[in-house]
Amino acid sequence: MKLYFYYGVMSSSKTANALMKKFHFEEHGKKVVLIKPGIDTRYGKSIVKSRVGLESEAIWINKGDNIHEIISKADSPQIIIADEAQFFTEKQIDELREYVDSGIMVMCYGLKTDYTGHLFEGSKRLIEVCDTLREIPSMCAKCGRKAIINAKYSEKKIVYNGNPIDIGGEDKYTVLCYQCWKNGNL
Ligand SMILES: [Zn+2]
Repeated sequence: MKLYFYYGVMSSSKTANALMKKFHFEEHGKKVVLIKPGIDTRYGKSIVKSRVGLESEAIWINKGDNIHEIISKADSPQIIIADEAQFFTEKQIDELREYVDSGIMVMCYGLKTDYTGHLFEGSKRLIEVCDTLREIPSMCAKCGRKAIINAKYSEKKIVYNGNPIDIGGEDKYTVLCYQCWKNGNL
């Protein structure tokens, strides 16, 4: 069994990919549990929803929760799929790693870096301990090269500093390549 980390910038269809994997495994008779960190409240508690309209119930994991305790109350899955995995703590990623070593496949989807260009805690730990690391590529919104940064903006200017966790959508973020991000204008 493996721990997978599929990473991409915002709007790179990570959630749609996660949900399609879930439906695919369920069609083949597998017990799948979908988890998400409590910090992402965009679509309401315990629902994971993608921009293309797919949605599914999820188990909500808060900071400080032990993932084993929460999942064992709900189900005994063969496969665990995690959305927005960047927001898990290092300890929670290590708990997911333990599942893999007891024969359960774990697939994590998430962002690699925040808008300041630094790794999220969960993503850092995933890069350190995953078996398979795969990029879901997207294009820079400005020039078409590969996007690697979730750029935060305010009044047409890029914001480089602040609390790295700031939940938002296209009203606040766009995806850029490194050069366009450094140039500072949208
Ligand atoms: Zn660019």
